[in-house]
Amino acid sequence: MLPDLYDPVYIITILFFIVGLHRMSHPKTARSGIVWAGGAMALAVVVTFLYPGMHNLILIIVGIVIGGSIGWIAAKRVAMTDMPQMVAIYNGMGGGAAGAIAAVELLKSTAVLSSSALAVTGAAIGSVSIAGSVIAFLKLQGWMRQKPITYPGQQVVNIVVLLAAIAFGVLILFPHVLGFSTLLPFFVLAVGYGILMTLPIGGADMPVVISLYNALTGIAVAMDGFALENFAMVVAGTLVGAAGSLLTLLMARAMNRSIGNVLFSAFGAKEEVTTGITGTMKPIQPQDAAVLLAYANSVIIAPGYGMAVAQAQQKVKELTDLLESKGIPVKFAIHPVAGRMPGHMNVLLAEAGVPYDRLFDRDEINADFPNTDVVLVIGANDVVNPAARRAGSALAGMPILDVDKAKNVIVLKRGQGKGFSGIENELFYADNTKLLYGDAQESVGKVIQELKKL
Ligand code: NDP
Repeated sequence: MLPDLYDPVYIITILFFIVGLHRMSHPKTARSGIVWAGGAMALAVVVTFLYPGMHNLILIIVGIVIGGSIGWIAAKRVAMTDMPQMVAIYNGMGGGAAGAIAAVELLKSTAVLSSSALAVTGAAIGSVSIAGSVIAFLKLQGWMRQKPITYPGQQVVNIVVLLAAIAFGVLILFPHVLGFSTLLPFFVLAVGYGILMTLPIGGADMPVVISLYNALTGIAVAMDGFALENFAMVVAGTLVGAAGSLLTLLMARAMNRSIGNVLFSAFGAKEEVTTGITGTMKPIQPQDAAVLLAYANSVIIAPGYGMAVAQAQQKVKELTDLLESKGIPVKFAIHPVAGRMPGHMNVLLAEAGVPYDRLFDRDEINADFPNTDVVLVIGANDVVNPAARRAGSALAGMPILDVDKAKNVIVLKRGQGKGFSGIENELFYADNTKLLYGDAQESVGKVIQELKKL
């Protein structure tokens, strides 16, 4: 009686996954979406113990306890700014698990050709995903050179390794030719390809690549699901594959880049020579910034990665409340790739209690800048760089926040640091721009103190 339960429970988990995904699409419901999807995953794991042919249950439970504890502790401790690399490594684990499941399936001498073909595909994609995700993790964690690693003939080497992996993959399907001796070189080549294809991708493009590997992991799991005839894996993998693919496309589009350009152009490998920048960077003190704000009729805050680094969101909320108490309306301009992951700014500002109706997308707010008295750029750089409007720049074509069109711009940053693209920002030299140097949290704090005195 009991073993028959797993099929209906799988259907329930799939429905929960879909509800969870749907709820994740809006900041208000995203948190509960994660609970729905997490609950579904827990249910799927529990009911899998009833799956026919399950054995080694004690070993599996020990594995779940060890893996679950490490995941729980690491997720509790991770800083918000380190979230992309955590997603990368957890995601890679999924790819590795899919590859390992496929390997076990391939070692069964009873496997039929069609299920072996699915397992080989799942193994190849999963291996590329774990290897690429580990490189992405190392780059984002700063344990490896972030800049693209390139060498002559790189794409040729990559293609040869890929073709060799495919050749060994095909040989696996005919075990009577070389037996299982082709499995090891196949996995080595697939893992090698994952490493090689990720090396020439720069740190700034890593979030897009992580999202791509996330989609690949989903596809690998779906392939394994077909091979194992486990439809919960098929549906869950397909959902992850579809959501990851869409996210990858959206992120690339927000940077006005194609996926091919992200993967193969070694973006950021060359230092961009910036010509034509005139003017000087003009510093401003907190008291002068406070005076500008106090007499403004309208203020827009454009946050970026630096706000996340400084963890300045609470202070920014405090400043917003103070300005609004003085009758000065404040809006937030949110660029889709500000920060280091999609929705990065939305999450931080929501955490600080900034209401959603104050946040405006680039398309909604760009027309407001020319009529705005003061724009506070808090740790943003690339997403406000007018170089994107100039043909020939590496940022060319990336839609930006038109903050340079405002009457006054105050940029909060620590020093002469460039944005993730490494491109000089001509906004900082413009006549209407002043630089408030220092850690964004401290700088906003000082402006608040000065504003209170006025
Ligand atoms: P940038 O990385 O361009 O710039 C960050 C700025 O913050 C720098 O000018 C830095 O200057 C400043 N900064 C850093 N730490 C602090 C601090 N503690 N206090 C104050 N300022 C600080 O950030 P953006 O958000 O403008 O751009 C995001 C970049 O990431 C884009 O290139 C985008 O394409 C890329 N990207 C984003 C993705 C996403 O999903 N969000 C995905 C893929 C790529 P200084 O060092 O002088 O302080």
